[in-house]
Amino acid sequence: MPYRLSVLLSSLALAVAFAAIGWNLYMQVEQCFEIEIANNSTRFQNVYAVLNEALAQHAQALAYSIAANTEVQRMFVEAGEAIRIKRERNGNNDNDDSSRARQTFRKQMEGQWNELRTRHEVRHLQFLLPDGTSFLRMDAPTRFGDVSTAVRPMLADIVQDHGPRSGFEIEHTYAGILGMAMASHPMPDGGERPVGIVEVGFGMSELLNRLDKQLDTGIALLLDNKRVSGVMLKDYRPTIETRQNFILAASRPEAGDWLKSGLLSASENLPQNHLFAWKGRHFQLVAFALNDYRSQAAPQARPLGTVLIWRDMTDRIKHLEKDRSAVINNTLPAWVFAQFFLFVLLYLLRREWKRQLKQGTAAFENLLQHNALLLDTAANGICGVDRNGCITFINRAALAMHGFRLEEVMGRKPYELFYHHGPDGYQDSEKNWPFMQTVDDGKPREAEVWLSRRDGSCFLAKVAVTPIFEQEQRNGAVIVFHDITEQRNRQEALLRLATTDSLTGASNRRHFLDQLDAELARQRRHGGQTSILMTDLDFFKHINDEYGHATGDAVLSHFVHIVRQTVRRSDIIGRLGGEEFAILLPGDGTKGARELAERLRRAFESNPVKVDNIDITCTVSIGISDLRADDMTADAPLRRADEALYAAKEAGRNRTVLYDPAWQWTQPRPWDEIAEQAPLRFAPLLQEEE
Ligand code: GH3
Ligand code: MG
Ligand code: MG
Repeated sequence: MPYRLSVLLSSLALAVAFAAIGWNLYMQVEQCFEIEIANNSTRFQNVYAVLNEALAQHAQALAYSIAANTEVQRMFVEAGEAIRIKRERNGNNDNDDSSRARQTFRKQMEGQWNELRTRHEVRHLQFLLPDGTSFLRMDAPTRFGDVSTAVRPMLADIVQDHGPRSGFEIEHTYAGILGMAMASHPMPDGGERPVGIVEVGFGMSELLNRLDKQLDTGIALLLDNKRVSGVMLKDYRPTIETRQNFILAASRPEAGDWLKSGLLSASENLPQNHLFAWKGRHFQLVAFALNDYRSQAAPQARPLGTVLIWRDMTDRIKHLEKDRSAVINNTLPAWVFAQFFLFVLLYLLRREWKRQLKQGTAAFENLLQHNALLLDTAANGICGVDRNGCITFINRAALAMHGFRLEEVMGRKPYELFYHHGPDGYQDSEKNWPFMQTVDDGKPREAEVWLSRRDGSCFLAKVAVTPIFEQEQRNGAVIVFHDITEQRNRQEALLRLATTDSLTGASNRRHFLDQLDAELARQRRHGGQTSILMTDLDFFKHINDEYGHATGDAVLSHFVHIVRQTVRRSDIIGRLGGEEFAILLPGDGTKGARELAERLRRAFESNPVKVDNIDITCTVSIGISDLRADDMTADAPLRRADEALYAAKEAGRNRTVLYDPAWQWTQPRPWDEIAEQAPLRFAPLLQEEE
């Protein structure tokens, strides 16, 4: 990969990695903030709920303690009596007993009412008759006589079962957290009689202010317009009214502004928790349902209103912004530093790579030079081919042997350039050539092949072909070869020397016997007919004596020449000694052998040899025998042919005689080492030729 591309790619990877890290940190900051916002919401709701409950209990306890006061009980009895009388008189004496009782009641409670207001922040204290009729409101003394059980479930419940109650409820003159207790009066029979209900309500503003301080939040209670209008008397309704809600109480003024500006709406979908900006500041607003006594009992009922709790988050948002920019401010320099570090690292690496490459290249060039030197100084021809058999390198010796120049052979196929045919004209196909066989199968080979030169002449070469493997893949071959023509000629000359007679060119005795043995073995294996002729020149001694030894030699050579002209190429001529020759005729039966022997005899007889302008005529006697399957050695057929030759000599020479197994020798034979010449007595068996 090019250096610039690798720098670019690694820088890109680094940038991506840092972007991922930065994004992760950024998301962590965001997540922390979101968790904080969610925790705030839960905490606000919980604190409000706990405080609400505590206040309700407190209100109930206060109501209970007031109801337990015997003076209060007594006043309730009087009030109840006055009202009863009034009702009996159809309400015409309100100025009298019931008013008096109310006045008395109020006066009696004045002190306690003041104390409750100042010490307990009680804003509503009402005394009701057991049937729910309002008898006296300390906070609204002019409002009495109303029965609101129809719209006040809490009141209806206590009227019904006399049990103490507490919770949020809207009353005719008051909306807030209420506690109720039934006051009872002892009866003469020891029992008790309910005489009135004490109702205590706290000021919600005080509660909210306390919460504001405790939570450091703004808090507001919104009441549903309809619910308020349905119960509260007009003069007593909360002063701040928006389209849907009354603000019952708010610890900070901004709630009213938000509601009026439509920024907030007491939506149905509660609870809500969201952030918003207002007049350059940021707020978290948590809105949840304001449950009253009725919705506590029946959660599916529509809530009475909404509790809004908000916190000024401007500082926190600034902090968040700081955290966000800290992520960027820390990640960016780290990335720049890492990028710089990467550049330096890559630069150093590249320098080191270059150095190593230079070293490697120098070593490689040295190696190449050495190789080239080796190749060019090698006496053997060396040539490399690729997998297609085309030349990839070749040394001087190879070029010299073939007579080509380097540029003429590179990329060409040795088969086309160097391999035409052997001296016998035979040319094998390319795929059977050892070069290509090794290229194909990857196996090393040695062979002797005829290679050609540029001028068309050819030479026998010993070739070693070795496959080239590169990364375990066959990738051509190396061919090492040298000219073995001279060596082969020498070998052949030596062989000739060892196997032929130097005077006549016929096989020498030993070689002939070897060939005879081989023919015997062949015949034993494959059968067939073979004959052997044993020849001896007649009165040869006379020629020597008369014309000299050299002329005798010429006659011997002439005889072999005549033999060669007479026999086939496959027939074998051997000089067994002196002027004695044997001829092996593979494939010939005795009949054919006799015909051939006779032809030979006549040809020799009728073709004198001219030596020093003198025609010298000589004759030959020939004994004939066949080769038999039971001939275990060359000796047996030779002896038989020799016997026939002897018989021919005996019969007068210049003739051919076939060996006859029925011959009965009465005299010892010459090969039985009897010196004297004795007449033979087997004449009847001799067959004379015409
Ligand atoms: P015969 O018909 O009975 O065979 O009579 P011959 O004269 O041929 O008798 P013999 O076979 O005994 O003589 C062979 C002679 O051949 C003897 C030897 O001097 C001669 N001779 C043997 N080897 C050579 C040779 O290499 N060159 C020459 N010129 N003469 C040889
Ligand atoms: Mg002889
Ligand atoms: Mg002789």
